[in-house]
Order: sequence, then structure tokens, then C-alpha cells
Amino acid sequence: MICTLLSIFSFFSSAMAANRERTFIMIKPDGVQRGLVGKIIKKFEQKGFKLVALKFMWPSEELLQKHYADLSSKPFFPGLVKYMSSGPVVPMVWEGLNVVKTGRVLLGATNPADSAPGTIRGDLCIQVGRNICHGSDAVESAKKEIDLWFTEKEQISWTPANESWVYED
Ligand code: UDP
Ligand code: MG
Repeated sequence: MICTLLSIFSFFSSAMAANRERTFIMIKPDGVQRGLVGKIIKKFEQKGFKLVALKFMWPSEELLQKHYADLSSKPFFPGLVKYMSSGPVVPMVWEGLNVVKTGRVLLGATNPADSAPGTIRGDLCIQVGRNICHGSDAVESAKKEIDLWFTEKEQISWTPANESWVYED
């Protein structure tokens, strides 16, 4: 009996933990300058993901060098840091089931020339060096990026009123 209760509890708690995956999404300076902030946020809201952190800031080159450290040897790195620090951005944390992978699907392929119509990049931009948004590529990198851009206090735990209409449990 106790075993059954424990396994039911662990089933529900692991399902809930899966729903609490988090990703780091950022609207880049071109997305802000082009007035696409609301449109990009709307895609994530309408999908059913939960916003847990958001701010508006002009990031330093130092912060962007840390954010893109894995790409520091790439020939496009200096241009990337210059582009990303050229104006304000909207960093965000979104939460939900498979949000890292699905978030990347919503954004579309890195190069907008390859992004499917219907995706954010597929519909709203043309060149890889002006691709308007960022999304973490794995759960581990998402954790690192979230910690780089947000404090614990800036991440809000809350229950959306529609939660039971988005998830089965
Ligand atoms: N980028 C670029 N030229 C390239 C590849 C990437 O300017 O040939 C930029 C582009 O803005 C991209 C960012 O570098 O979004 C980070 O590259 P990554 O491969 O991590 O793509 P992402 O994860 O953003 O899809
Ligand atoms: Mg990347």
C-alpha cells in the first residue's frame, strides 16, 4: 500500500518536475529596434509556456563575451558581440514541458534562410547575423545562461490560472 502511494507520488512529482524545465530566451537588439518584442513574447505565451523572468537592459560586451564564450574562436564572434551590445535586449526565462527543445522550434533554425515559415525567425528576419532572438540549446546551457542573466530573486515561482487547461496533470 505504502509502495503504491510512493510510486503514485513519485510519478506525479516527476511529471511536475518535467513541466518545470526552464530555458533562456532573449530578444536581440534588432528584435527590439524593429518593434517585435510583443510578437515574440506572444508566441511563447500562446503556446502555453510560463514566463518566470523578464527584463529590459543594454548588455555590456563583457556579459555577452561570457554568454557566447563557447563561440569565442569563431570568425563571427567579434561581430556577434558588437551586434548584441549595440542596443537594449529583452532577456527572459520561460518554463514548461520540453521548453528548451520546443523553444528552439518556435524560434526556427539559426540561419533564417533555413527557418521554416511559421517560426519566429522564418517569418520575421532574413540574415543569420540579424536573427532577432536567442534560445538555449540544451537544459544544461539553459541553466548556465539563466544564472548569468538573472538572480534567483528575479525568477518568480507562480501558478498561472490556466495551468490545468494546458497540462493534463
Ligand atoms: N551567428 C552568426 N554567423 C554564423 C553563425 C552564428 O552571426 O555563421 C550568430 C547568430 O546570431 C546566432 C549566434 O551567432 O544566433 C549564436 O550562434 P549559434 O550557433 O549558437 O546559434 P543559435 O543557438 O543562436 O541558434
Ligand atoms: Mg546557440
